Amino acid sequence: MGKKAIGIDLGGTAIKGAIIDEGGICGGVIRVPTEAQGGGRRIMENILSLIGRLAEGGGGPGAFIGVGIGTPGFVDSDGVILNGGANLPGWTGMQVYAPIAERFGLRSSAANDVTSVALAELMFGAGRGVKNMVCFALGTGVGGGIVTNGRLYKGSHGMAGEIGHIVVETNGEECPCGQRGCVERYASATGIVKMAAAMAKEAADGNVTELAEFVRANPGEVTSKLVYEYAAKGDALALRVHERACDMLGRAVGIVINTFSPDRVVLGGGVMMAGSVVLEAVKRYAALHCWPEIFKLCEIVPARMGEDAGVLGAGALALEEFG
Ligand SMILES: [Zn+2]
Repeated sequence: MGKKAIGIDLGGTAIKGAIIDEGGICGGVIRVPTEAQGGGRRIMENILSLIGRLAEGGGGPGAFIGVGIGTPGFVDSDGVILNGGANLPGWTGMQVYAPIAERFGLRSSAANDVTSVALAELMFGAGRGVKNMVCFALGTGVGGGIVTNGRLYKGSHGMAGEIGHIVVETNGEECPCGQRGCVERYASATGIVKMAAAMAKEAADGNVTELAEFVRANPGEVTSKLVYEYAAKGDALALRVHERACDMLGRAVGIVINTFSPDRVVLGGGVMMAGSVVLEAVKRYAALHCWPEIFKLCEIVPARMGEDAGVLGAGALALEEFG
């Protein structure tokens, strides 16, 4: 029988848990409310009772090699949460490994939730069969994860993989992280919407497109999906936004290709729902920002993991570390 782990994916409203083995999810995914307003101890208690339910259903704690946890923020090497985020008050500073060891006698491995999705892609998705890989997740922000020699690279302090904050534009857009010109400001869903608004404002009257008119009339209803719907119809403004987003992302992809010489760069998240139009443009721009010899040895591919990526990635953390 293969080794199995418990995967826990902590979010602002729900905690998802599942039993994960080399084949993926065994049985189903269980969702329980996070009860974030109850504070760090409440969240931890909910995680512990979910682990208890999963362990019981899977033959008891002794049947598992460990627990993997994907969480917002970072986790230091002792299992203490750093920067747990505004959605989880009181979560920062919580120690997660000790209570799991005390109650179940199980070891744990925790990491940023988006970073651990890279491991899900490696074990079960677009990264199968490769050793070195970098994942970009293009959502509300841009997150990512780096895999080297088949292992998630966490860095010396558990904070590696912040590839959304690679600066791609000198004196560019302000980012909440404190820098300017982070790739996240251009290639995330939020960044795409903001660029569309800015470019619609600039558009001269004789040069107004359908998207520009829509943005001016309904500023609160613009989404990156909508921008891509207009782009598919050939709207000039939407195509300019698309080119700029992909140019900026291509710069960051070029930087990671030069730095890591990975077998694959995996692009996922909501923005990738626009499909091959994004993928092909990013390939075109990335090629301009890295060494041709390294570029031609690296594939740029779409992510394959769906909505269970977080819980699979969490389980993969434990399988990777203790398997
Ligand atoms: Zn930033």
